[in-house]
Amino acid sequence: MDNEVSITASALSRSRALATEAVHAGRDDLASLGLHAPPLDLSTTYPSYDSRGEAERIDTFATTGARLDGPPVYARLDNPTTARFETALARLEGTDSAVAFASGMAALTAVLLARASMGLRHVVAVRPLYGCSDHLLGAGLLGTEVTWTDPAGISDAIRPDTGLVMVETPANPTLAEIDIRAVAHSCGTVPLLVDNTFATPVLQRPAEHGARIVLHSATKYLGGHGDVMGGVVACDEEFAARLRQVRFATGGVLHPLAGYLLLRGLSTLPVRVRAASASAAELSRRLTADPRISRVHYPKLGGAMVSFEVYGDPHRVIAGVRLITPAVSLGSVDSLIQHPASISHRIVDEGDRQASGVGDRLLRMSVGLEDVEDLWADLCQALSDGSAQPVRRVRSAEPEPAVRSAATEWSERSMSSEPSSAGR
Ligand SMILES: *Cc1c(COP(=O)(O)O)cnc(C)c1O
Repeated sequence: MDNEVSITASALSRSRALATEAVHAGRDDLASLGLHAPPLDLSTTYPSYDSRGEAERIDTFATTGARLDGPPVYARLDNPTTARFETALARLEGTDSAVAFASGMAALTAVLLARASMGLRHVVAVRPLYGCSDHLLGAGLLGTEVTWTDPAGISDAIRPDTGLVMVETPANPTLAEIDIRAVAHSCGTVPLLVDNTFATPVLQRPAEHGARIVLHSATKYLGGHGDVMGGVVACDEEFAARLRQVRFATGGVLHPLAGYLLLRGLSTLPVRVRAASASAAELSRRLTADPRISRVHYPKLGGAMVSFEVYGDPHRVIAGVRLITPAVSLGSVDSLIQHPASISHRIVDEGDRQASGVGDRLLRMSVGLEDVEDLWADLCQALSDGSAQPVRRVRSAEPEPAVRSAATEWSERSMSSEPSSAGR
């Protein structure tokens, strides 16, 4: 009997695999509601005939930051659709809680304000970080004071007023990796924030290695389709409560439709990340063997981002792609490429940018779900437009640039291999 009970208990407490959580977390109550798809609640306010009861609930929220029981009072306090996304993301990251915001930058802002409200304005950070995170820490917009260091210098950089240690791994855009466990150890009692946007919980769960705060630009892989902007912080309930208070007071809430789309995005996150990572790994192998490329950055951890340095002019690669979209951002179903020194990291001081490995010949590619041979063909034609050759390339008398003919070839190829148009 005893045995049976303990088996049942362990079966219940056994955590489900990530792929299962991705499609079920945040949806546990749907069957009991008689629903299959999660409901989208766009209400900005909620009726209540019991204002004494509301007063009590508001007091509880204001003093504890705990999630409201029952319907929200007003959409800036909470939203049931967004709450489903928060529950699901917390499960995927293996944390107590998660708090969603209007963007990744709104999420980082809330973290900094939450720490500053405790008198802890000093941040220790490791470069490179996403360009705007670097800017937010360094520009003093929130009164933050930052000490930049490398992972080995973290413990020496910590002061009595240090409220946060911040790292990104793999980092944007160099894909440099940091040993989270070692860094968490150097932080002592200061919370470590890991920006996990690039790895996603599919490849890495920083909380399991000692990070107290895990941040995502949900705009990237979590949404996954380039059509929703959001941010989220996964953490323990104590810090989540503080973040809810900051979010309520400062208003950087996620729109419920975005919450809905992010919950939906999570359900395919494991398959998207694994498929795109396989293509990125293959592209990194081919780029490594390519004489036009001087250096390839691809994380040991894997992932769907690959960065590389060209011998020639990186701007001509950007101008030459035809299938891959030349655009900032990442993590969508389609591939994007950009020049960090011009775009994603433009706002970082040039010297700091160079010193953290973001050189002028570096390109960052977000690999999507296209066929890897098509991606390689597009990269090859963009690279062979002389763009990756040293500048001495001599133009022939030919009026048609090489890029144009490669693009024409590409569109002819895609048209002729379109089975449905041929069939109909
Ligand atoms: C894009 C990005 C951010 C900022 O997120 P937004 O949603 O654009 O505000 C933060 N960190 C990383 C690593 C990013 O790539």
